[in-house]
Parts: sequence; structure tokens; C-alpha cells
Amino acid sequence: MITLKGAEVSAKIKEQVTEDLKKLGGTIPTLAIVRVGEKPDDMSYERGAKKKLESFGLKAESFVFPEDITDQDFKEAFRKICEDEQVTGILLLKPLPKQICEKDIDRMIDPKKDLDGISPENIAKVFAGDPTGFAPCTAEAVIEVLKAYDIPITGKRATVVGRSMIVGKPLSMLLLKENATVTVCHTRTADLKGTCKNAEILVAAAGKAKMLDGDYVGEGAVVIDVGINVDGDGKLCGDVDFASIQEKAAMATPVPGGVGAVTTAVLAAHLVRAALQQAG
Ligand code: NDP
Repeated sequence: MITLKGAEVSAKIKEQVTEDLKKLGGTIPTLAIVRVGEKPDDMSYERGAKKKLESFGLKAESFVFPEDITDQDFKEAFRKICEDEQVTGILLLKPLPKQICEKDIDRMIDPKKDLDGISPENIAKVFAGDPTGFAPCTAEAVIEVLKAYDIPITGKRATVVGRSMIVGKPLSMLLLKENATVTVCHTRTADLKGTCKNAEILVAAAGKAKMLDGDYVGEGAVVIDVGINVDGDGKLCGDVDFASIQEKAAMATPVPGGVGAVTTAVLAAHLVRAALQQAG
């Protein structure tokens, strides 16, 4: 089985970002990372995103708010960030605390700065196959992995386990745009094992540690693991039991070192694209 390495895909994306950056004539775009509270997962993602952006020659600035900020105060602050001309793009770390209406925030974000595709306008563009929109970075990262390794998508049976608005649903639309025949699975799927086994491209985005073992993988399948979980020993792991699919899958992404590294590279690519679009 070939291991699909996120770092290699990220390096390819960096080449393109470096080229695109030259078109901005020396202007360095700035990402605003908006975080409410001190959740370790958010802080670790924020550190990773900042490191990646800086290594791509881009800027990132954190806007941090207390966990108990009121809905009104947060909306006021968020509006200012959206309107700030120094801010090229925005990454909002979710979920937000319960007192903040997330749907309102999704509608408030300027679609031109919405790098992770949470606004209704960008969601609609992803569903319409309109390339001017921003898809959620993780969903796009899966497509980038497949393309970087020249894995054919057209006509392939692709199964996505998970139907969230941030991964499963947009990813199924992106795969459809690439002419895959897409099946989306979830907790009510009757024959999950059989459906997964039938896939030529299997994407795991359920958020359940090692739930897909070798029994869920067909001979020669390409397996992309989006999951980021912690196993019983406290170690980071994906939704796929990587060891048990070695004899079945042709290729697979590891966790860590797979899709996660590509997600932040896509974020960087989105930031530069936003800057170019805003510059007209
Ligand atoms: P959600 O919890 O929002 O969605 C999980 C989805 O998986 C749901 O649609 C759920 O079905 C489905 N699901 C859960 N358990 C099962 C099961 N046993 N059988 C079949 N379907 C199941 O998670 P996210 O989409 O936000 O994230 C998914 C994973 O991806 C997480 O591990 C997350 O940490 C990771 N992630 C990774 C990123 C990266 O950069 N690599 C970025 C974002 C997320 P139902 O709808 O029926 O409840």
C-alpha cells in the first residue's frame, strides 16, 4: 500500500501560491483567525495554520475573545473584522459557544473573505460547481490529495462517510464536480460495511477513532482519512484503522501527516485567491 503524504501535496500547493503571490506586487495578504475561548483543539489548529501561512510567506493574526462573550458583543467585534481593510480573509474556529448564534455569523461573514466556505453564498457556489466560491478547506484538501497523486476521479465510485456541512456534504459536491459517482453515508446508513467496500475512493469523515478497518475497504481502493481523533492510548488517529487496511487498499492517507497538512495549505491558497479577487 502506498502512503499518500500530506506534506508532498502541501509542497505542490506552495509552488502555486508562491507564483500567485508574485501577481500581488509585494502586498502580503493577512488572514484573521477568530477564536472564542481556549479550546486546546482550536488552539492547536490555530498554531498549525499560522505556522503554515508564515512558511508560505503570508501573514496571520489572531482575534481572541472570552468564552462568555455575549452574542451582541461578538457580532459587533466580528462585523469590525469583516470590514477591516487590513484583513484579506477570515477563518472562524467552530463550534462557537452556545450563546452565540452561529447561523447569524455564517450570514454575516463577507463571502469574499470567507476562506472556509461557511457563508450561504459560498455554500451555494460549491453546490453549483462555481469555482469563484470558497469550498471548506478540508473538503477541497481531499480533492487536492487525489489530484496531486494523479488518482483518477472521473467515473469512479466514491463513498464519503459523513454528511456534515463542513466536510461530508461539500466534499460530495466537489467529487461530483470531478465526475465521480458519489454515495454519502451517515449514522442511518443500512449497510455501511458493504457500501464502503464497494467504493473505489473511500473518504472517512465521521470523527470516530479507527471505525473503518480492513473489512470496510475493497481490494485496491484509495482511502482518504479526514478524521482527527484520539485513541484509547491518547494518541492522535484517524477514522481508519491504518494497520488493518495495508493488505487491502492500494493507497491511503495517514493520520497525522495526511489531509490535515493539506487543509492549511488550501487555506493559504484561498487567502491568496481572495487577495487577487479583491484586487480585481
Ligand atoms: P461531525 O460530527 O459534524 O459529522 C460527522 C458525520 O459522520 C455525521 O454526518 C455523522 O452522521 C457521521 N457519522 C458519525 N458516526 C458514524 C458512524 N458510526 N457511521 C456512519 N456515519 C457516522 O464531524 P465533522 O464533519 O466536523 O468532522 C469529521 C471528522 O473530520 C472529525 O474527526 C474531525 O475532527 C475531522 N476534521 C478534520 C479536519 C482536517 O483538517 N483534517 C477538518 C475538519 C474536521 P449523522 O449525520 O447521521 O450524525
